[in-house]
Amino acid sequence: MRYSGFRVIKEALTGHLGWGPAWRDPEPKPQYDIVVIGGGGHGLATAYYLAAKYGQHRVAVLEKGWIGGGNVGRNTTIIRSNYLLDGNEPFYEFSLKLWEGLEQELNYNAMVSQRGILNLIHTDAQRDAFIRRGNAMRMHGADADLLSTAQITARYPFLNTADARFPIKGGLAQHRGGTVRHDAVAWGYARAADQLGVDILQNCEVTGFAIENGVCTGVETTRGPIRAGKVGVCVAGSSSRVMAQAGMRLPIESHVLQAFVSEGLKPLLPGVITFGAGHFYVSQSDKGGLVFGGDIDGYNSYAQRGNLPVVEDVCEGGMAIFPMLGRARLLRMWGGIMDMSMDGSPIIDRTHIDGLYFNGGWCYGGFKATPASGYAYAHLLATDAPHPTATAYRFDRFATGHMIDEKGMGNQPNLH
Ligand SMILES: Cc1cc2nc3c(=O)[nH]c(=O)nc-3n(C[C@H](O)[C@H](O)[C@H](O)COP(=O)(O)OP(=O)(O)OC[C@H]3O[C@@H](n4cnc5c(N)ncnc54)[C@H](O)[C@@H]3O)c2cc1C
Repeated sequence: MRYSGFRVIKEALTGHLGWGPAWRDPEPKPQYDIVVIGGGGHGLATAYYLAAKYGQHRVAVLEKGWIGGGNVGRNTTIIRSNYLLDGNEPFYEFSLKLWEGLEQELNYNAMVSQRGILNLIHTDAQRDAFIRRGNAMRMHGADADLLSTAQITARYPFLNTADARFPIKGGLAQHRGGTVRHDAVAWGYARAADQLGVDILQNCEVTGFAIENGVCTGVETTRGPIRAGKVGVCVAGSSSRVMAQAGMRLPIESHVLQAFVSEGLKPLLPGVITFGAGHFYVSQSDKGGLVFGGDIDGYNSYAQRGNLPVVEDVCEGGMAIFPMLGRARLLRMWGGIMDMSMDGSPIIDRTHIDGLYFNGGWCYGGFKATPASGYAYAHLLATDAPHPTATAYRFDRFATGHMIDEKGMGNQPNLH
């Protein structure tokens, strides 16, 4: 079924009896050409692009829970391509371009909203760094604008620019950045992949790999063994646990990241704002809630809820730029498991086991990467060669020293 405005009106007038399920609920087949483990945004996007761009239709996505139950449905929905390094910027700009055409391509309303993102500047040194970043973005074809304090005040009059502990001295804006409704991305990719023949198998947890003579020939699951020509792991926060089943130890730690939503307020925040003197980012959802977050909890964990010190830290960051936040009531908070890599950048690569591929290490920036990650991983799975925008995301960079350390923090996952 194709979705359209006409269809919505027709269904509204006829009691909504014509809507069918958005994707099938098939039984697992004994064998597929390619099995993707993990039905998050990246796994579903991978399956979609495998079918849509690389002609692979005997594909299954194995999800241990339900579609959208992982980080793809837990993030703060921010998309952007404001990266500095050559290894990153072309990839994230590719992703932003895919976001721009996504709803038409998938025939699904994912509420892609290019409302703009503004990174606040609080020191002269930070201004220099952001000018450099903005120039790097422009050199890669992305948009970037340096805004003065007066320009920021005109758009965001409530920001405390003058008598604050961290005065606002300007900002780096990317007007094409913004937000996307997170779980709709999972549903849109799932529906489009299903229509191209991909089997989406929910409640199907992978519990082991079939590895014979150094070749991965399939997986063990809670719904029985499934053979596969190629297996692509794409499980975000569960990366270390799943790859341990194949005997691999990854340069990744898992941490909790929390997110928060306030009660619904009148429209006040037209874009996304990030605080430059701490870790705090905020946007306003279409329902009116302020959606915000900050740092990860500082200890390793596979829990999907965090602790109070980070709640205090995030709210302090918010209050520093946005004192009226203190008047709003917090409606909800939750956590997701982040696959924090050692340099803050992801891995999309083959493993030393033939037929076994890995995609992970997205830290807390993986939502914006969803389309490009899926495209690049599909390219790798289909052709055995890295996608041109993802050639740097290799395992061996940690051995050779070619880290993609966007923040220059060293191998400290909790600082990325
Ligand atoms: C609170 C929070 C805020 C964030 N904010 C942003 C943001 O604003 N912008 C941004 O770019 N990024 C953000 N992120 C990061 C982003 O959400 C993640 O990097 C990205 O969603 C990870 O990829 P995914 O969607 O495929 O992960 P997931 O949705 O977590 O998918 C992985 C799937 O693998 C499944 N799985 C695990 N083990 C198995 C198994 N053994 N067998 C089968 N399936 C398995 C899981 O159930 C899960 O559904 C945020 C994350 C969190 C938690």
